[in-house]
Amino acid sequence: PLALLKDPSLLKTDALINGEWVKGSSRFDVNDPATGLKLADVANLGPTEAEAAIAAANAAWPAWRAQTAKQRSIILRKWFDLLMANQEDLGRIMTAEQGKPFAEAKGEVAYGASFVEWFAEEAKRINGETLPTFDNNRRLMVLKQPIGVCAAITPWNFPLAMITRKVAPALAAGCTVIIKPAELTPLTALAAAELAIRAGIPAGVLNMLTADADQSIAVGKVICASDVVRHISFTGSTEVGRILMAQSAPTVKKMSLELGGNAPFIIFNDADIDSAVEGAFASKYRNAGQTCVCSNRFYVQSGVYDEFVEKFATKVKSAKVGNGFEDGVNQGPLIEEAALEKVQRHVDDAVSKGARIMAGGKRLPGQFFEPTLVADATNDMLCAKEETFGPFAPVFKFENEQEAIDAANDTEFGLASYFYSRDVGRIFRVAEALEYGMVGINVGILATEHVPFGGVKQSGLGREGSHHGMDDYVEIKYLCVGDI
Ligand code: ADP
Repeated sequence: PLALLKDPSLLKTDALINGEWVKGSSRFDVNDPATGLKLADVANLGPTEAEAAIAAANAAWPAWRAQTAKQRSIILRKWFDLLMANQEDLGRIMTAEQGKPFAEAKGEVAYGASFVEWFAEEAKRINGETLPTFDNNRRLMVLKQPIGVCAAITPWNFPLAMITRKVAPALAAGCTVIIKPAELTPLTALAAAELAIRAGIPAGVLNMLTADADQSIAVGKVICASDVVRHISFTGSTEVGRILMAQSAPTVKKMSLELGGNAPFIIFNDADIDSAVEGAFASKYRNAGQTCVCSNRFYVQSGVYDEFVEKFATKVKSAKVGNGFEDGVNQGPLIEEAALEKVQRHVDDAVSKGARIMAGGKRLPGQFFEPTLVADATNDMLCAKEETFGPFAPVFKFENEQEAIDAANDTEFGLASYFYSRDVGRIFRVAEALEYGMVGINVGILATEHVPFGGVKQSGLGREGSHHGMDDYVEIKYLCVGDI
C-alpha cells in the first residue's frame, strides 16, 4: 500500500533528534495488521538517545519560548495546512500500519490536524490576570508561562491524533517536546514529524524517539527520571499509566493521563430505538472497537430490550469486515494477536455463562474478528468488568433508572458514557449521576477538538482539547509588585 504514496518522502523510518534523522544502532519491524506483511524497519532507540533528545529539547527551549505567541501560532498553522494537504498520504500510511478503514484513517488525519489548528489559535489567548490589590502600594497579577520540556507517550489506536492533541498545546504554550510514539504505529508519527519540520518548527523543539516494546520501557524510565522533563502526557493503558506515575514520583512531574475506559451505553424505554442502534454501532465498532471511548457495555431497559437487540443484530450482521483499503469496509483487522485472544476470551466467557450470540462470535482468517453481539449478558461476566477493546457488544437488561446508573458507575473507570432518552428530566438526572468525564446523550460519537476530552476515577488526569487542554502546559506565576 505504501508504494501508492503521492509523496514517498513522507515515509520516514529514522527517529528525529535535534532536527537530525537518527538511524539508531538497531531497527524494529512495522507490519501491516491486515496482511501480516512487513512495511518498514524503524530506528530502535534507547536510553542514550533519550538523553540526547532531552538535552536537545532543553537547549531549544529558550529560543522557542522567546518567540511571540503569534510567531508560534503561524508555524503551527503551517503544520496544520501541511497535515491537511497530505491527508490522503497520511491516511494511507495509517491504514497500512494500524488497519482502520481508509475513510476512517483520513477522518483521523482531519481530527488530528484539527488540534493543531485549534491550538495555533489558542496560542494567542494564553491570557494572564490582574487582580484587585490588598494594599494601594501594590499591584497583583498572574502570568502564564510554558512549563518546559514535555514528553508525550502515545498509543497505536489513534496514531496521529493522540500525538497532536498533546504536542500542539505544548508547542503553542512555548514548550519543547519529546514524543515516543507507539511501536506498532511509528510511521504515521514520523510522517507528521517530517511535516512539522517542513512547517518550520525549529530543530530540537519537536523530537521523536521511536523504540520497540522493550526499549520503550527503557526510554520511559529515562524520561520519568529526568529533572529536565517537567511534564509527561500519556495515553494508553491504566496499568502503564500507573507505572509512569510511580516512576515520576521522585521528580514530582506534572502528568496528564488518558487511560482505559469501560464505557456504558444505556438505552431507556423512551429512547428513539433506530437512532440508538445507529449510535451504538458507531460507538462500538469504530476502529474495530479499539478506542478508549468505545462502548463496552450496553444496558437496555426491559420495555425496548427485544426490539433493540433485534435491530442492533441486523445492523451488526450487515457490517463488512476486511482490509481497510477495500471499498465499503466498516471494520479492519485488530492490531495484534493478543487483542484477538482477548475478544475471544470475553465472548467465550459470556457464552459459557449464558449469553446468547446474536451476531458474529468467531475469529476470521488473519487478524480479523467478526463484529459480535450477545444478548442476556450478566454482571458475573468478564465483559462487565474489563474493557474488551474489540468488536464485541454485550447487552444487559435492566428494569429501572437507578439500576442502570448503579451498573454504569460500578467500575474503576470513568471516561466516556452514553445514554439514549427523550425525557428531558431523565436526561439531566442521568447525565449528572454518571461518574464519567464525558457523557453522550442521544449520540454515539462525541469527540472534537474544542471540547474537553478526559476521564475521572482511574481513567486519568487532565483534559485534552478545548481551552482547558492548554492548562497542563502552562505554569501559573503570581507577581506581587510593591512600592507603587
Ligand atoms: P495499549 O494497551 O494501548 O497498547 P500501552 O499502555 O501498552 O497501551 O502503550 C501505550 C504507549 O506506552 C506505547 O507507546 C508504549 O510503547 C508505551 N509504553 C508501554 N509500557 C511502557 C513503560 N513501561 N514505560 C514507558 N512507555 C511504555
